[in-house]
Amino acid sequence: MNERELLTIANLTKSYGNKEILKGVNLHVVQGEIIGYIGPNGAGKSTTIKIILGMEGDYGGEVRLFGENIRQDSVEYKRRIGYVPEIADVYDNLTGYEYLTFIGQLYGVDLDIAANKSQTLMELFGVGEAYHARISSYSKGMRQKLLIISSLLHNPDILFLDEPINGLDANSVMIFKEILAQLAAQGKTIFYSSHLMDVVEKISSRIILLHDGKVAADGTFEQLQAESAGGTLEAIFTQLTDFHDYREIGEQFVAVVQGGQ
Ligand code: ADP
Ligand code: MG
Repeated sequence: MNERELLTIANLTKSYGNKEILKGVNLHVVQGEIIGYIGPNGAGKSTTIKIILGMEGDYGGEVRLFGENIRQDSVEYKRRIGYVPEIADVYDNLTGYEYLTFIGQLYGVDLDIAANKSQTLMELFGVGEAYHARISSYSKGMRQKLLIISSLLHNPDILFLDEPINGLDANSVMIFKEILAQLAAQGKTIFYSSHLMDVVEKISSRIILLHDGKVAADGTFEQLQAESAGGTLEAIFTQLTDFHDYREIGEQFVAVVQGGQ
């Protein structure tokens, strides 16, 4: 094993009922990489992340994080992980301050430090004035910023981001991309799962395409371009997932919309 290898997934399988979602996923992630984990809706991206984080125990194969098999059930490794879930239950009745200091303390950060960091990070993200407001008053983008901040308060070594820019405006996305680049430059490892190709294409040092339960492509954007007909990541994605009938589906869709009147 490469000594800087942080995450190893070997022959990972997962089914829900009789539906096989992951059919033998293999991947190796080295420290400092920004992995873009892409795939169509329902491919199993979020499921993969939940398994790695210990939120889904019923799987086949092996996952090693920081060199340890996650089945060993040690919670210690979780302190080194940050996570932005795709769908989050944030406590609406708390204020930003209350929520962030609560999460920070769960991860072992002292209250004072968590409070100071939270306030400064909220200000940098342009939402400092909402720090003491209830989360129920936050917009979708403000909630997303709260989740991003809460995932970073304990300065984790690896960050799992599941559709992290949901609801963020263009300027906030630019700041966020810069944050990720800076974190990676500091040696942090980032696992970025999304179906939004343009951001993945720009930020990832390596792209992994999950399709039909397996890794269908794995390489830098340039490598994927060389292996396929080139073009944008979206074009490569469409080609590798063998998806061609979008015109026909679009036409039929509109025909149904217009029909029956
Ligand atoms: P992605 O994140 O790639 O869009 P998911 O990992 O969320 O995909 O889901 C993969 C598949 O597994 C989907 O078909 C989804 O409906 C199914 N699935 C996810 N979670 C559950 C669950 N808890 N119970 C049953 N099916 C699930
Ligand atoms: Mg998902």
